[in-house]
Amino acid sequence: MSELKQTRPKGTQDFVPPDSERRRQAEATFRHLAETYGYREIITPTFEHTAVFVKSSGETSDIVTKEMYSFKDRAERDLTLRPEGTPGVVRAVLENQARMPCRLYYVGPYFRYSRPQKGRYREFGQVGVEALGEASPLTDAEVIFLGDAFFRSLGIHDCTTQVNSIGCRECRPGHRDALRNYLLERKEQLCGDCRLRIDRNPLRVFDCKVEACRQAVEGAPTPRQHLCEACKRHFEQVLADLTQRSLPYEVNDRLVRGLDYYNRTTFEYISASLGAQDSLGGGGRYDYLVEEFGGPDTPAIGFALGLDRALLAAPPAAGPARRHLAFVVWLTESELGETEKLAAKLRADGIPAQVDYDARRVKAQFKSADAAQAACCIIIGPDELAKGVYSLKDLVSGEQHEVPFDAITAAVRKRFRD
Ligand SMILES: [Zn+2]
Ligand SMILES: [Zn+2]
Repeated sequence: MSELKQTRPKGTQDFVPPDSERRRQAEATFRHLAETYGYREIITPTFEHTAVFVKSSGETSDIVTKEMYSFKDRAERDLTLRPEGTPGVVRAVLENQARMPCRLYYVGPYFRYSRPQKGRYREFGQVGVEALGEASPLTDAEVIFLGDAFFRSLGIHDCTTQVNSIGCRECRPGHRDALRNYLLERKEQLCGDCRLRIDRNPLRVFDCKVEACRQAVEGAPTPRQHLCEACKRHFEQVLADLTQRSLPYEVNDRLVRGLDYYNRTTFEYISASLGAQDSLGGGGRYDYLVEEFGGPDTPAIGFALGLDRALLAAPPAAGPARRHLAFVVWLTESELGETEKLAAKLRADGIPAQVDYDARRVKAQFKSADAAQAACCIIIGPDELAKGVYSLKDLVSGEQHEVPFDAITAAVRKRFRD
């Protein structure tokens, strides 16, 4: 038998309280926000047939060539832990024959074998929306606005939005040819990856982080210079609507996003406080993807936002120092029955309640209450029971007073409010 590894795998994270709660809170904020725009949650498997991702993201994309956790199961099926959300959602929408238009959101773990860095993990949290069956540029602007609103609701106020248009089936070939010719003239300056990209997918050279490549594309033909009239108009309307919504944006001609399925509008959210790892997420239009999956012609747009980096950029939660939890303390074994009953009543009234059944001494029970970060203790002893009261001790102020049996719920609620 192999030795038991005592540490988590590289690039993964543990979330112990209160970090787990902060994360769930951010997810809840996203769920609520997305629902106010009419989105409903879709839950898809964490792994799919590998072809789902290869087909949509593109065989030459970094995700597919370098970053997927792919494996064969015991029946030799080719499966992959999902590296992103959109392909699985599109697959599921078609398989379940969802009615169009269809607004969906998702929340969950995603997996990429990349170099772990600050705020970047191999298993990472992502939230996203997909608006399927919507073609209007106003949808683009609304989707972009929604992502920005999420970051703001987390307290991230230095977020800027970069937008670009990479054209459509009509105008992309013209740009691709111009770009290919431009890059061929500078082939010597490009890195090995980019030389291969010239033929396969020249647009991706814009994504390259190698300095020489960045310089080489400095004066390259941009997708925007080659937009057809329809794409130009679409992009102008997106920008006009963003302006009307007072959303600060910058047009970035280099923003092409590393996935094959995007067309027209692409966008990315940037936070200055994150340093070099400044992207909080992004998205774009993918009007051809549903068709490529064998479905009907369905325009669509969506985004995916990284939860890990968002929580890194967000200010720490200023929650209460103590949890909304009442710890019920018993003095002698004869009060145990009453203790269980009171805990049950509090829970039925919606108040989280906990009892230490092991600790015989009151002092030990108070220690447990402190470890649990409870806001208050309710003490039940023979004297209290004889008088028909509980002793309620506030663990923040240390203050203690007696409360009649039937007033305990209200008294604890008041403690939580203060
Ligand atoms: Zn076009
Ligand atoms: Zn390069």
